[in-house]
Amino acid sequence: MSETFEPGATVIPKPLHLLTDHELERKEQVAKVTTRVLRYLTGEFESRGFDWLLPVVFSKSTDPLWPDPGASIEKRVETEIYGEPVRTTHSMIIHKLVASSTAYPKLFVLSPNVRIERRERKDTGRHAYEFTQFDFELRGAGSEDVRELVEAVVAGLVAHLKTTSDLPVSFGREAMKTPFEVLDRRDLIARHGQEWELVLPQQTSRPVWVTNIPREFYDYEDPATGRWDNYDLFVPYYGEILSGARREWEHDRIVSKMERDGIDQKNFSLLLRLSEEGRIKPSAGAGIGIERIVGWIVGAKHIGEVQPFPKVPGVVYDL
Ligand code: ATP
Ligand code: ASP
Ligand code: MG
Repeated sequence: MSETFEPGATVIPKPLHLLTDHELERKEQVAKVTTRVLRYLTGEFESRGFDWLLPVVFSKSTDPLWPDPGASIEKRVETEIYGEPVRTTHSMIIHKLVASSTAYPKLFVLSPNVRIERRERKDTGRHAYEFTQFDFELRGAGSEDVRELVEAVVAGLVAHLKTTSDLPVSFGREAMKTPFEVLDRRDLIARHGQEWELVLPQQTSRPVWVTNIPREFYDYEDPATGRWDNYDLFVPYYGEILSGARREWEHDRIVSKMERDGIDQKNFSLLLRLSEEGRIKPSAGAGIGIERIVGWIVGAKHIGEVQPFPKVPGVVYDL
């Protein structure tokens, strides 16, 4: 239950009907941890004035997941409804930009993400092909606002769970002293090479931020320095549990980044139109992978263990 996460040592999670009595008990305990995590996160954000939005499944625009140095997905799930092309949600980033600019200046959503990850990712222990993000956005915020918010909530969550001794939480080995250290990706490459994402979780004993990560067009990139104003939260053993950024909002910037990345602009027509009309507002936000944060908390070897119905890359069960 409290073993540390070791990449490569994964056992593929089984479906419910194949679990032993002992494994079913563990499954139920993990569900109790998940319930407490969700109650804590939603309660904290609600008490800080955020609105809780309901998620969507089909849209014309979704996260391009590109450029991605890992070229992570095997395919995009695209179909047609009512004669219109739609995609299943990769992430609700585009919705967050529009929603936070219009009716919901402070929002969060528990968003099901469908990403058909490359099948060899079944062995990372950190990837599912369906998962849930606790995704939030804050109009007018900067990176430090978001990092402070996340630090307060994560440290509060850990403190809250530690007081509940009946649950199988496995951390405690790392201190939750805030603020968390902020590291620049360039320094990590200099220290650990291109494999820094794998090395960092093994070397840190507490959560750390990594900034300046080249990503999709929607993360803010300083035109003068080329520095990306974004942040990923890495935790010991488990690795990345959150990604977020201050956002681009200006039409010309968004268009030039789409051109640079070879993104098909017709898949983002509404965002482009609104930004041209000056209706996209500056914001910042992030998404926490629910299965990742729970997996870290309970010491799961594979995040499929924390899913009632495991969605392991390359493995399609009945349910
Ligand atoms: P990774 O580099 O680990 O593959 P990513 O950087 O591509 O992840 P993001 O697009 O940043 O992922 O997604 C936001 C968050 O959603 C991540 O920080 C992580 O917590 C979670 N997440 C992303 N992909 C998966 C996945 N396949 N299974 C479970 N959680 C995921
Ligand atoms: N949720 C992420 C964000 O807010 C986007 C993603 O899923 O990559 O930046
Ligand atoms: Mg990420």
